[in-house]
Amino acid sequence: MSVVQHVRDRAGHFRWMGLLVVWAVFIAMAAVLLIERAGVQYSAGQHKLGMLAATDAMPASSAIFGQKPTCLVISDSDQDGVEDVKDQFDQILLDMKIAHRDIDIATDGADAIPSLASFDRVIVLMPSLDALGTHLTDLMSWVSAGGSLMLGMTPESSGYLQAIAPKLGIDTVGYEYTTAESIVPSKDFMIGGGQRYEFSDPFKSSLLVSLRETAHVWAKTGDTEAPLIWSSDCGSGRTVVCNIGIYSKVMRGFYAAAISLLGGATAYPVINSAVFYLDDFPSPVPSGDGTYIKRDYGLSIADFYTRVWWPDLQKLAQKYDIRYTGVMIENYEDVVNQVEPVRQADTTQFRYFGGMLLQMGGELGFHGYNHQPLALSDTDYGTMYDYKTWKNRETLVAALNELIAFQDEVLPNAHGTVYVPPSNILSARARKIIGKDEPRIKTIASTYFEDGTDLPYVQEFGVASDGIVEQPRIVSGGMVDDTYMRLAAVSELNMHYVSTHFLHPDDLLDPDRGAKEGWEVYKGGLTDYLDWLTTSAPDLRHQTGSECSGAIQRFSSVTVSVDTSDDAWTLSLGNFHDEAWLMFRANNGEPGAVSGGEITHLTGNLYLVKATDKTVTIERKEGGDR
Ligand SMILES: [Zn+2]
Repeated sequence: MSVVQHVRDRAGHFRWMGLLVVWAVFIAMAAVLLIERAGVQYSAGQHKLGMLAATDAMPASSAIFGQKPTCLVISDSDQDGVEDVKDQFDQILLDMKIAHRDIDIATDGADAIPSLASFDRVIVLMPSLDALGTHLTDLMSWVSAGGSLMLGMTPESSGYLQAIAPKLGIDTVGYEYTTAESIVPSKDFMIGGGQRYEFSDPFKSSLLVSLRETAHVWAKTGDTEAPLIWSSDCGSGRTVVCNIGIYSKVMRGFYAAAISLLGGATAYPVINSAVFYLDDFPSPVPSGDGTYIKRDYGLSIADFYTRVWWPDLQKLAQKYDIRYTGVMIENYEDVVNQVEPVRQADTTQFRYFGGMLLQMGGELGFHGYNHQPLALSDTDYGTMYDYKTWKNRETLVAALNELIAFQDEVLPNAHGTVYVPPSNILSARARKIIGKDEPRIKTIASTYFEDGTDLPYVQEFGVASDGIVEQPRIVSGGMVDDTYMRLAAVSELNMHYVSTHFLHPDDLLDPDRGAKEGWEVYKGGLTDYLDWLTTSAPDLRHQTGSECSGAIQRFSSVTVSVDTSDDAWTLSLGNFHDEAWLMFRANNGEPGAVSGGEITHLTGNLYLVKATDKTVTIERKEGGDR
């Protein structure tokens, strides 16, 4: 071989190598594209629940309006705390679509208690039963004849209580109270049962009682096993006593579960949705370093988000089948007086992170043109925040419109419909403006719980009178193993069969939200919650924000009545569209074959029913827990 030839061969060899590299790159790109296509097809093929037209969805109060009450609620607003408890029960019964009639002894008088013949259940909301006088005797005879009675509040010891104690399943009762520091619902009673849930500010809230052998205890305290919820058969009827003594919003699921013990069977509508929000996502990533991020990773904030935080969230999404709902922030300035707001010039991060989130089957909504909450001069932040208020209605609307236009420009496939208020703050005036002047916004996702100030926009799950879907977020951050949040989570699984969670990328910059503990601890808390949720409610649907809104519309609109015969339960649904989800507790008999829907066993005598028709018939067999 000549030297020349040798050189040419080598050159040729190098040319071939070059071509191979080009081919390899091509094949890699094709593979990426294929995987991406597959991703698109995968998410497109998933069943996504659409929203109903605003005219087809209605507030729960309208849905139930005019229904014949099957439940009588007797309260006495003269007694301590009764008014607040009554408010909670009104909301619980409304959401369960149990039409009820109210008698307040303080204003109506005990003699206003109507004939009990037309009611299935009576709920008594007053600690001292003395106010019922001789009507208590009538009530107990009605129970013996087949009625269902619930004492919703921790009873006060008195001669009246002593007189009916055996019928309530009580053996002995004195005047002593015991501290309910935690609640352990029995495994066969509730979703998430068989575990201990702590109360944040325990006090001596439960009456010390010993129960008869015939009483069935559904929940007790963790420390001394003091009974908190129990039922007792009484003649052909039944009594249920709630002895928790804590009635805040965070407890609703326990009371809903207790109410479902009344009657032969109870069916109530639920949402069936778990949603995961990423607030401030996408948004301009802060430049520079964060103290704790630098400490743990030696990375800038931007590099940390790209190389650690986002890949970890993607892994969680894959493992737990989550499609995140990100809500966009266009800039972090505090300009609140522009009629023509300035467009964000740097769109790279929006396209990169937003595009990937959509690629994963997620959804993008709106959080703000900037992070200034929508509030006008009538809002006073005091020393709580250094937010500004908007100059006037025009600048506020212009900023929202700009954010929507910006999303349409950088991520034209997003079609956002969900709005999350910055810091969960939204003034009453701004709330009205959204319903009237922002047709693109169909859902507001703020907060479920008060924070002790009047700043947050606190919501109930449902459809508002202006058609906006109210989708409160229940739990947040990575400290979901925090006792209050875990209590809230288990309560809402049983009340609405829902979990709404949000986290902020900048939680890792804020020592109050877990920055000091670091991302690994934060992620650990989140993983712990996701494990708990998946174990407690394996059938819970994981959805995006707007899909959850579709579920809330159906939940808010639907009504249900149960007709029991010897061999079947017939559930008749009003305002039924295409599907509805119901909790079903079979207190007397065991469910068999179902028509008009599907049934899934949850625990004990508790079932999840998917209705696919306005009439669902469930075969009723002998047995079951009564
Ligand atoms: Zn935010």
